[in-house]
Amino acid sequence: MSNEPFDDRDGYIWYNGKLSVWRDTNVHILNHGLHYASCVFEGIRIYDGKPFKLNEHNERLHNSAKILNFDIPYSVDQLNEATKLIVKEQGVENGYIRPIAWLGSEHMKIYAAGNSVHVAIATWEWAGYFPEELYEKGIDLCWSDWKRPAPDTAPTNSKAAGLYMICTISKKQAQQGGFHDAMMLDYRGYVAEATGANFFMVADGEIHTPIADCFLDGITRRTVIEIAKNNGIKVNERHIKPEELSTAQEAFLTGTAAEITPIGSIAEHKFVPGEVTALLRQEYSKLVRK
Ligand code: PMP
Repeated sequence: MSNEPFDDRDGYIWYNGKLSVWRDTNVHILNHGLHYASCVFEGIRIYDGKPFKLNEHNERLHNSAKILNFDIPYSVDQLNEATKLIVKEQGVENGYIRPIAWLGSEHMKIYAAGNSVHVAIATWEWAGYFPEELYEKGIDLCWSDWKRPAPDTAPTNSKAAGLYMICTISKKQAQQGGFHDAMMLDYRGYVAEATGANFFMVADGEIHTPIADCFLDGITRRTVIEIAKNNGIKVNERHIKPEELSTAQEAFLTGTAAEITPIGSIAEHKFVPGEVTALLRQEYSKLVRK
């Protein structure tokens, strides 16, 4: 299954309220979402047949669309039910769900007044984001050439497709340079996040993570902060300068796909996955299967 291209698989995709045959579920080339990135999406993990934080993700999908100035024509409850339906139909036990909403083809002007809003939900079996052996020593990151934009430069708190342009370029550059991912600074020069996951570091037993004021405040990020606090670990949300990475012993990424991924290095800064990362990983894996 996993080597099949995504447009040529068996089964169904939930598409505008119906189950649609996977390999026949297409959009027209002239659609607003493709041309102008009027498109928002989500990524949800399924553990033992159950989507984790389903409601939070569908609420964020609604909110992301609102920020881009369109309304999703299905309620959060309807999206939750649709998601459960397609997961059951596809028989996915441990995998990923991709809900996506975009503007259609009625108008192709920049402002497409009255364009229809389309919604699809696809799901597939999927294991780790990074190869399993990397979780021991951690992944290696380089610095991205790109900076997270200011909140008045881009709709930074939406999970909008357009925001991923700099992520896909950065990730490609990282991998071509022999790294697993790239770390991005923000428009002020503070440490922000990786190309698809939030950043945490551990210094002298305390956690430090950037304030999510110009990038996605991840659902995993919030979950990990809660786990840390429940385990008596102090969490400092603050602006972090890149040179402060040298004060940390451990560092990790969080995200729906990345879960909690230990970091081995960010450019010249080296980290060793330790006690705090191990505890959080253990508690997180318990929580997702509760
Ligand atoms: N930042 C970016 C750019 C992401 O793509 C993701 C993954 N959705 C995250 C952070 C983490 O968000 P979450 O924990 O909600 O998956």
